[in-house]
Amino acid sequence: MSYKNFPMVPRVIFGRGSFNQLNDVLASKRLGINAPFIFLVDDVFKNNSWLTSRIQLSYDDKIIFVSAEEEPKTSQVDDLVEDIILMSKQRPSGVIGIGGGTLLDLAKAVSIMLTNEGSAKDYQGWDLVKSKAIYHVGVPTISGTGAEVSRTTVLTGPEKKLGINSDFTPFDQVILDSELTRGVPKDQWFYTGMDCYIHCIESLTGTYLNAFSESYGNMALDLCKQIFLEDHLSDIESQEKLMMASWHGGMSIVYSQVGVAHAMSYGLSYLLGTKHGIGNCIVFDHLEEFYPEGVKLFKQMKAEHGIVLPKGLCADLSDSDFNVMIKVALSLEPLWENALGKNWKKIITPEKLKSLYQKM
Ligand code: NAD
Ligand code: ZN
Repeated sequence: MSYKNFPMVPRVIFGRGSFNQLNDVLASKRLGINAPFIFLVDDVFKNNSWLTSRIQLSYDDKIIFVSAEEEPKTSQVDDLVEDIILMSKQRPSGVIGIGGGTLLDLAKAVSIMLTNEGSAKDYQGWDLVKSKAIYHVGVPTISGTGAEVSRTTVLTGPEKKLGINSDFTPFDQVILDSELTRGVPKDQWFYTGMDCYIHCIESLTGTYLNAFSESYGNMALDLCKQIFLEDHLSDIESQEKLMMASWHGGMSIVYSQVGVAHAMSYGLSYLLGTKHGIGNCIVFDHLEEFYPEGVKLFKQMKAEHGIVLPKGLCADLSDSDFNVMIKVALSLEPLWENALGKNWKKIITPEKLKSLYQKM
């Protein structure tokens, strides 16, 4: 048996207001006056000088605002890389992603594609990246996905929704400043926060579980219970704790895997463009038979925060639509094996998946 040798984020700053240290951190990483830093920033901050005025642009540094309306696409990564090459005299000194999972994943993918030939779609899979990415920094502004610690960047390509999983994907530096998350709308806070909760449940109940994943998963799960079910936390405490829950939830799945909700949510997202956080919630709500305890608690959290999930997403779908979703979901074999064991194909058939999707 050979154990996986995972890279981790080598540097991290944690603290309220630590975003102010970004400029200092970058100063020592500048490769030259013609090698700019490129800031990919969620366009929700476009008219928010509280955040953008704290980014010091020097020489040819650029801020590129990107919408997080849709999840990242391989073609979008290719376009961004082309724009950056055209606007930079030399290969950039670094890429800084500021936003949620969408912007973090874009920053990771762009930093890889600046040093690797071809299209981002050529690298969707495991360990296909050949050259080290350029220096890249992640600054989350919403907590839950774990994209700030993970070894993947999830992209929708022409043929599949699949991550670029590689040793070069993780950030070189992460800045965890919970103050940046203070403006997140309540629904979105819940959906992205539940991504973390679902990571914990899928990891902790999976067949791949080991002591490494379990320790991180338990820490994150405990934090989620405090944040979403107890009412004694201040806003600041709650924001800081969710930031750490996201981190630990991400660390938990590094050495295990996610499960049924993620597999099915990828199907929804591929066909309907349903975003990761809300998609996971819509699916998880119907998974009592796989995660009885986890779903019970999820429903309690949903009620506690008055969250009403959309219904009837699959009401008007054709058989061929269902088949597309089912094919995407079933292709994620490690997720099913983690959730249900080696004989998962006996439990999860296309008919079974269809009947589950029909409830959503
Ligand atoms: P997101 O980045 O899609 O953002 C969700 C919404 O919140 C957007 O409208 C965004 O503009 C808004 N927002 C973000 N920060 C805000 C703030 N401070 N104030 C106000 N609004 C704010 O959300 P997400 O749930 O963090 O990320 C989802 C993406 O992450 C998906 O594309 C998914 O595939 C990816 N993901 C990646 C990994 C990984 O390991 N790489 C893991 C899980 C999910
Ligand atoms: Zn997730």
